[in-house]
Amino acid sequence: MKNNENRKELHIIQGPGYKYDSFIPIADRINEHFDRILSLLSISTPSGKPICIKLNVDCVNPEEIAAYAQRVSKDPSVYQIRMGAGLLYHLWVASRAFASEYNLLPWIEQCKINDERLRKLGKKQIFADYAHSIGCYYIILHEISHIVLGQLEYIKDEIELDYLSEFQDEKSQYSLEEIRISKAFEAEADRQAGEFLLVFFEQSLGSNGLGNYLSFPSRLHVYEFYVYAITIVFRMLQVLTQRQGLIHPKPNERLYTLVGSLSKYFSHNFPDEHDKIYLQAVKSCLEAGEKLLVLDSYDPCTVIQNAYNLAFVDEVIRETNIRSYQHKVEVISTK
Ligand SMILES: [Zn+2]
Repeated sequence: MKNNENRKELHIIQGPGYKYDSFIPIADRINEHFDRILSLLSISTPSGKPICIKLNVDCVNPEEIAAYAQRVSKDPSVYQIRMGAGLLYHLWVASRAFASEYNLLPWIEQCKINDERLRKLGKKQIFADYAHSIGCYYIILHEISHIVLGQLEYIKDEIELDYLSEFQDEKSQYSLEEIRISKAFEAEADRQAGEFLLVFFEQSLGSNGLGNYLSFPSRLHVYEFYVYAITIVFRMLQVLTQRQGLIHPKPNERLYTLVGSLSKYFSHNFPDEHDKIYLQAVKSCLEAGEKLLVLDSYDPCTVIQNAYNLAFVDEVIRETNIRSYQHKVEVISTK
């Protein structure tokens, strides 16, 4: 995994010239994804009152790069998620990496398209759109996780913050302890979002777990693609934040937190596949991190060191007793 002099670098955010205007018709899909997620997650307060979450996407201003969840009143059952379309646009451009000539995953050509209507799009384009959907689901699920985990109540009561912004307001002044807590909450939201995301991803694969409208060659290929799709999200965040944010773990740490959630998910749902898929996913992550240039994500020693550094997350969870703030959530199965 050491640097290879002949390694071709893939520049994604600059993209192959996709304009914001081309993205506008696709922007509405975020509402479809959001509605589907909420139709399959049943969330209620500890006293059993259903939680209401509204999505508010600003499509007018392409410069608007924002994502956060907040309470809209004192009522602990009503929330909104605010999102700037600029963020979704950057994700869309980044996911075009699958459609580029780079051949991110050369085996894509071995996949079979099952849905006649998609044939004219071509396999690379289908994978680029699939990766964009996975990224959108992750972003929504991360915000929903802040709500489900009760973190908004905690930060309001204990540190007088209204929301945890994905794109930090540099004017805000945080104490070291507030940074430590916020960072742990972000890591925990990623861990939770990773588990939710796998439920939705598996549902998208149909009953044989190999794909609905297209067929992957094997389950190992399925999860290699999944890891690449989420690696693109964190490469995008690396570019947008320049790794400057104080209250988030670094993009490379977040990437491995998400990949780490595969272990718990497979142990519970597909224990026979756990070892094979999880090892492959970690290997794919080292490769994808290098190809997509997520800093500090592909040297094994650095990755191990970062994993140890995240041990403070569990300490914060214990110290804050954040579990007592948590809402109840059930995933409604469609299989
Ligand atoms: Zn967050």
